[in-house]
Amino acid sequence: MIDAQWREKLENNQGWWERLEQRNGSASARVTRNTGEIRLYAFTCGWMTADLKMMLGRAHGKIRFPVPCYLIDHPKGRVLFDTGLHPDCQHDPETRLGGIAKHFHVHYRRGEEVAARLMQLGIEAKDIDFVINSHLHFDHTGGNLLVPNARIVIQRREWEAGKMPELIHANAYDKRDYDLGHLVMQVEGSFDLFGDGTIVTIPTFGHTPGHQSLKIKLGTGDVILAADACYLRQSLEELHLPKLVFDRAQMLDSMLLLRRLQAAGARIFYGHDPEFWKQVPQAPLMIR
Ligand SMILES: [Zn+2]
Repeated sequence: MIDAQWREKLENNQGWWERLEQRNGSASARVTRNTGEIRLYAFTCGWMTADLKMMLGRAHGKIRFPVPCYLIDHPKGRVLFDTGLHPDCQHDPETRLGGIAKHFHVHYRRGEEVAARLMQLGIEAKDIDFVINSHLHFDHTGGNLLVPNARIVIQRREWEAGKMPELIHANAYDKRDYDLGHLVMQVEGSFDLFGDGTIVTIPTFGHTPGHQSLKIKLGTGDVILAADACYLRQSLEELHLPKLVFDRAQMLDSMLLLRRLQAAGARIFYGHDPEFWKQVPQAPLMIR
């Protein structure tokens, strides 16, 4: 027996694509809706400081690193890749992050959350159609609550891991970040969101059980948003893994895949590289 809440979700689900099509085609669609080519924007939704060995297993010292999110504005829909930190981290990260708070110093101010970043582009968070979550960690899903109408696109094995107590514990997930009642599209492996090859998930397991990166086909070539499959440029150059990894062999395989894509001409956008990030144009500038 399906309860009323789930029945509503299912009914909502059935009409969802149709409504998206109608909205895109209707006269009431926002005048700013993209009818041309795909646009990619980067947002910085705060910074954090942590031990460098969290990113490079044998290194010493600290690193201050960005928390990126991306908007992909496609004629068929608006898509976020990750959503950054929960807004509560702006004033009380210790309470929000609990046991892992001691590992991170959070630099995150009002106006840096993903909804505010979108508003700076004139886009309301409620108008986001999809959130592609690379994985379930707090600095990638913390803003999911701000994007209530989006459908979440995530690897099936990551979503499943997020429901298992042992794996929640092992991966330091927090269900409050992602268990919010969104419609969820669980995908397996490579998934072409709009069927035109412009936005394609790339499974890069290892950092977590079902981590995924994202390939964006721009007019200038392919961009790979690596997320935590590769924190830093140095990680890829040296195949240098972090201290904490869910599956080291898988993560190494994923890094080798990123290297092959890079060798084939793709630009890799590292997950948390402060030096690399200096070169990335920030919204409202477009990444070209
Ligand atoms: Zn992570």
